[in-house]
Amino acid sequence: MTTIRVLVTGGAGFIGSHYVRTLLGPDGPPEVTVTVLDKLTYAGNPANLHEVRDADGFTFVRGDICDAELVDRLVAAHDQVVHFAAESHVDRSILGADAFVRTNVLGTQTLLDAALRHGLGTFVHISSDEVYGSIEKGSWPETDPLRPNSPYSASKAASDLIALAYHRTHGLDVRVTRCSNNYGHHQYPEKVVPLFITRLLNGRPVPLYGDGGNVRDWIHIDDHVRGIELVRTRGCPGEVYNIGGGNELSNREMTDLLLLACGADRRMVRFVEDRKGHDRRYSVDFTKIRTELGYTPRKDLATGLAETVRWYRTHRSWWEPLVDRAAGGPALRTSGLPVRRTENPS
Ligand code: NAD
Repeated sequence: MTTIRVLVTGGAGFIGSHYVRTLLGPDGPPEVTVTVLDKLTYAGNPANLHEVRDADGFTFVRGDICDAELVDRLVAAHDQVVHFAAESHVDRSILGADAFVRTNVLGTQTLLDAALRHGLGTFVHISSDEVYGSIEKGSWPETDPLRPNSPYSASKAASDLIALAYHRTHGLDVRVTRCSNNYGHHQYPEKVVPLFITRLLNGRPVPLYGDGGNVRDWIHIDDHVRGIELVRTRGCPGEVYNIGGGNELSNREMTDLLLLACGADRRMVRFVEDRKGHDRRYSVDFTKIRTELGYTPRKDLATGLAETVRWYRTHRSWWEPLVDRAAGGPALRTSGLPVRRTENPS
């Protein structure tokens, strides 16, 4: 069997690291080697890859996807790219869009150019449901136009379209996934689920944007990673695949579930000023990946959330230093809320 050399960008982040642990884990595909290229921004964490650091066929390279020389060298030595690396937090993109445009747009183009030069096999581009904009009723099929609203989603839409353009223009085997909101272990505690869990575990109130009525579809990372693997191994060149979880909830409803899972109640909720330009509702139609590639989300939301809360409860040493560091960082949605520094971060 021929070995497939997969270059995973952003493999030290939340979803990328889970993808790498899955590929190199006991149920991963045979004959795959994995190189992670990651800049280790605030969101990248080498600890996310401890489990696989001694695995056969694993290599870690610290570097920037905008570094054309490095990217050229790495892409030349691989058969496939699965591209996760991105600036991923909407709130940060509102405070400043530079890094978003640079990494998400220029970085993607740098990778695509190298892929073209070296005749890469397959390029899986990890996009987002946020590229579609906001939808009042119904769900987006892949054919819907992109109408992104935040600097984050606009930079993701740009990279999504440039990736597809390299297929249409040059015939590069590009496959795009557009997934809904992920939750699970190892997620940096700035996104709503880990932010709320870690605050509640510390006995702190949680900041809910606006009226809490914004609706998101939630998917467990196991399901997202399985969807990506289906696209890498069985998807078609030039195709876009929505990946959903089938769990549409308002932020208020998600907050109630998290309060319950953490043994807290609504007295812990603080309504804070809404996010600027906050998209009201996201909803992907994921019929295509279901019918063409046999994808179904397997993780039931209640089980997935209970497991996630349990992981954060038992992995304080993973997140406490991050919460401490975030307290000294840019003022995100927690501003105005009390932040407790841990006395002994381990
Ligand atoms: P994350 O922020 O946890 O991880 C991003 C990773 O990319 C980090 O390890 C970071 O160090 C790395 N990175 C950032 N800039 C880089 C650069 N210039 N060069 C190399 N590495 C760089 O993000 P995530 O939540 O794991 O998301 C991964 C991908 O999935 C992103 O493309 C995101 O847009 C997409 N996505 C995320 C979600 C979600 O709910 N989290 C949903 C749909 C799509």
